[in-house]
Amino acid sequence: MLGSHTELLYITDVPDSQHYPPESPPRAWAEINLTHLRQNYRTVATYHQGDIMAVLKAGAYGHGIEKIAQTLEGIENNMAPPAFLGVASVIEARRLHQAGIHTRIYLLGPTFPSEREEIIAHRWTPCISTMGEAIHFNDLNTGNKPLPVHLAVDTGMGRGGFLPHHILASMDELSELVNLEIEGIGSHLPSADEDAAFTQEQFQLYDNTVESIGTDLFRYRHLSNSAGLLAYQSRTTNLCRPGLMLYGISPLPEYQKKLKPVMTLKSRVSLVRTLPSGMGISYGRETILEKDTQVATIGIGYGDGFPRSLSMQNANVWIQKTRCPILGRVTMDQIMADVSHLDNCKPGDEVELFGNNILVSEIATHANTIPWEILTGITPRVTRKYIGH
Ligand SMILES: *Cc1c(COP(=O)(O)O)cnc(C)c1O
Repeated sequence: MLGSHTELLYITDVPDSQHYPPESPPRAWAEINLTHLRQNYRTVATYHQGDIMAVLKAGAYGHGIEKIAQTLEGIENNMAPPAFLGVASVIEARRLHQAGIHTRIYLLGPTFPSEREEIIAHRWTPCISTMGEAIHFNDLNTGNKPLPVHLAVDTGMGRGGFLPHHILASMDELSELVNLEIEGIGSHLPSADEDAAFTQEQFQLYDNTVESIGTDLFRYRHLSNSAGLLAYQSRTTNLCRPGLMLYGISPLPEYQKKLKPVMTLKSRVSLVRTLPSGMGISYGRETILEKDTQVATIGIGYGDGFPRSLSMQNANVWIQKTRCPILGRVTMDQIMADVSHLDNCKPGDEVELFGNNILVSEIATHANTIPWEILTGITPRVTRKYIGH
């Protein structure tokens, strides 16, 4: 192929000759700023003396698990790279393994019995919620060196883990499982961004539980997600598990200025037209123009993960450094915005749906959801474009 006539044509047309045939320009893309990712990681380290588990579940919150893992694993300059990468499932663990990632992989939720042989073979780190799981891992690991596992303790999340009084009663039995090395103890916070009083009590309960078992028995002790890390202190923890914060979004608005959004969701104006007063815009004609209006059509919709629930919520997009109101309902592939106040809005103009200028948190509020859901909902047809390093 190389050197053939058509190939040469493409090489002159397309700067990146790796792609054959050339890709058409993406209509919607997410710029992923790896420099911002590193800066946020550094910010995590300023809040926490100890090790970091970078939470990379759900495709690194939609940012692309391989690239985010490679970037964090390569962190240096007096900074320790993450001790663990936290994923939700064996499928995600496999993706990290296949990408050649060497950092230890931690499975944040319970595992299915059929997954455990593979987990042991790769020495991924499971968290254990019941005696039954512990015994199964112990039996499967016969004849190998002990598998490091973490105990999950349920201090209030109601999703997994031993209850605090059960774990105390189970410690003797757990320590008899010679094919397991009980290396860590973790718990999770259900409302660190919503209920300070409850969260304070939870920190107390966690610290008391760990201390009554024996803090030094556990190499790793972990409780905090992003909100816990930003706003609370523990006596016992030495590992934190930030997710959202790494991606530059604070679950607590007062800390947002310390972080830099990693993902900017972008599209382009595809049409600009002047439409008359009285004209309906989009499905259901919920918006009827009250005056002649310059309307831009933009190439992104709920098929890209830009939520349909944003329809009719007074949300904005960002064009030519200016907020422009979304008009009518979000459709599958396109949205419309009022650009009457822009001087010269034209097809091809870049549009920021969220990023530095319009935070994904703001979009989430308008869509009556949370930034985690928006980020993880950006669909595969949105090209991820990595910038920075
Ligand atoms: C998702 C998750 C985290 C990260 O939470 P953020 O709020 O995104 O920082 C930490 N721990 C566990 C167990 C999780 O499931």
